[in-house]
Amino acid sequence: MSSFCLLLGTKNPGKVKEAKEILSFPGENLQILSFRERNFADVDESGETYADNSLKKARYISQETGLPVLSDDSGLEVFSLNGAPGPRSARFAGPGSTDEENLHLLLDKLKGVDDRGARFVTVATLYLTSEERYMTRGTLRGSISREARGESGFGYDPIFVPDGFDKTLAQLRERKKNEISHRRKALEKMRDKLKELSRRA
Ligand code: IMP
Repeated sequence: MSSFCLLLGTKNPGKVKEAKEILSFPGENLQILSFRERNFADVDESGETYADNSLKKARYISQETGLPVLSDDSGLEVFSLNGAPGPRSARFAGPGSTDEENLHLLLDKLKGVDDRGARFVTVATLYLTSEERYMTRGTLRGSISREARGESGFGYDPIFVPDGFDKTLAQLRERKKNEISHRRKALEKMRDKLKELSRRA
């Protein structure tokens, strides 16, 4: 029996590890490859929506490699800022900005603002062909703290307190964060589609 082969469209080793763990299932007929086995060129992520960015990445890498590709794109949406920084989360403080600069700009914009509600969003795209592609979405609700706390994680983790917790994501253990994350939710939804495709292979 042949297996369904999937290439992960990310060069982030942490994301590769997490995706492999989430997408594996018992009795699997699915082979998951990363950039280590099949390299690909970097893709520009300057689209206006998560869906545009994740589709663009997945399509580009699939066309380059001839393999089915799974990509994702994420961001932080602050309700009182009309959803900003959103898909521009990585470059909120300008092109090439650091995580530190981005989160301090966000704290500045929220000075004196009481409504601190926010959510992380991930859209994942599985690209097989131009006619066959699937998208899933995962969210994590929470609020923006008054100051940065904690050392672990990346991006806006030091200022994001998930609902039901009193610590920021950067104060939680990596394992706990990965259990509740927006990325996990989007990938878990994709797992069912992959099971179906691997049965077809
Ligand atoms: P990416 O699409 O996963 O690369 O995420 C784009 C940007 O959104 C990152 O550079 C971060 O600024 C922000 N972001 C996405 N997910 C997270 C997260 O789990 N924690 C903190 N920041 C995140």
